[in-house]
Amino acid sequence: MSVTLRNHIGGKETDANASSTLPVMNPATGEQIASVPLSSAKDVDTAVRAAAAAFPGWSGTPIKERVQVFYRYKALLERDMASLSELVTRENGKTLSEAKAEVEKSIEVTEFACSMPQLIAGEVLEVSRGVECRIDRHPVGVVACITPFNFPAMVPNWTIPNALVLGNTMVLKPSEFVPLSAMRIAALLQEAGLPDGVFNVVHGGQEVVEALCDHPGIEALSFVGSTRVAKLVYQRATAHLKRAVCLGGAKNHLIVLPDAHEEMTASNVAASMSGCAGQRCMAASAMVAVGGVDHIIRRLCDEARAIVPGKNLGAVISKQAKERIERYITEAEREGATILVDGRNAVVAGKEGGYYVGPTVIDNVRPDMKIAREEVFGPVLAIMRAKTVDEAIAIENANPYGNAASVFTQNGGLARYVAERASAGMI
Ligand code: NAD
Repeated sequence: MSVTLRNHIGGKETDANASSTLPVMNPATGEQIASVPLSSAKDVDTAVRAAAAAFPGWSGTPIKERVQVFYRYKALLERDMASLSELVTRENGKTLSEAKAEVEKSIEVTEFACSMPQLIAGEVLEVSRGVECRIDRHPVGVVACITPFNFPAMVPNWTIPNALVLGNTMVLKPSEFVPLSAMRIAALLQEAGLPDGVFNVVHGGQEVVEALCDHPGIEALSFVGSTRVAKLVYQRATAHLKRAVCLGGAKNHLIVLPDAHEEMTASNVAASMSGCAGQRCMAASAMVAVGGVDHIIRRLCDEARAIVPGKNLGAVISKQAKERIERYITEAEREGATILVDGRNAVVAGKEGGYYVGPTVIDNVRPDMKIAREEVFGPVLAIMRAKTVDEAIAIENANPYGNAASVFTQNGGLARYVAERASAGMI
């Protein structure tokens, strides 16, 4: 029997004022593992009040003492690495080693946050004779954190240790697809000695997010998710003059030049397109093949065929995601692209209800095709052909997304040439 989750408010598990619940599925099997409440604006208000009540005590605690909680939290993440990774795999569908890697990243961010007492040392400037300006850092108050499904432990932990060590208190709204890891994080923070109310979890979807954007008690907000929702959240939160950091989706281009190392390029690209079943904002989703690189593409296809759903490839998050990804492949085929490796209709023996898409490599994609323009978020690589480096750079520059771009070459000058001209934020 699957449990219905409760919110975590003021250190206690609290029933949500929810009009409905959603099933939480194990994507690897298609079985329901829990139900998550779609909480209301009233639940958000209760959580913000609890966080506001905890703020004076927590922000008034010296940072050297606040940081001690996070040294203990790090030790608890290490202690529970195996069970937390299993939970991430269970609700997200990624492989156990991928889940473990994201718990390791959560630990790294916590280590970074533990160095905050040194990092936030202020500055003093003598601006005039006898006049001194000081820069000190102060917590802003209650902050909100809204997270996506693809990293149930790591993405919440991008914000939690940093924001809380700095003395803020928080309301987390995890993705409704993966709410279980957030509850485990709440339990670990409590065990680490975090005072009640400093960290709260409200489950739900759009209504909760909108209430967080609108609530006058929220001072700042961090969002990670799709570009469409990032824009909505950014506009809504900043309309209330809140500070907002909103990270959106991606289309990462890999430019492969003819002198690229065949084996290294093929295995790197195959791993990048298929890791976390392509559900990573840093996944390779578009390759721009410059000139005669057919030998690399052949080898890449061999590498992709060795990546097997249910073995070294996890499931995608939902039945709808599987259908959406397969529609992109079918549409590309209809538009004239060539499917070199076809991951449609993947079935894993013993897990027939799971949502699997095999690695898919598509050649002869044109930049105007939907599969080249939009974020697919599955283990699918679209290969576009270019005659020159400049043509490849122009393809990358024309795409509206800009998370990361890479260049594969053994020529340092060309690598620099591309790095200086690619438009993505990370090269
Ligand atoms: P999503 O945008 O659907 O959901 C993100 C959050 O917003 C969830 O908590 C969800 O409940 C909420 N939400 C959904 N629709 C909403 C609406 N209409 N109004 C208000 N809130 C809403 O994203 P997802 O599918 O969970 O995650 C995948 C996306 O996240 C991909 O686009 C991926 O590239 C992106 N992502 C980006 C980064 C980054 O660092 N840039 C990192 C991880 C994921």
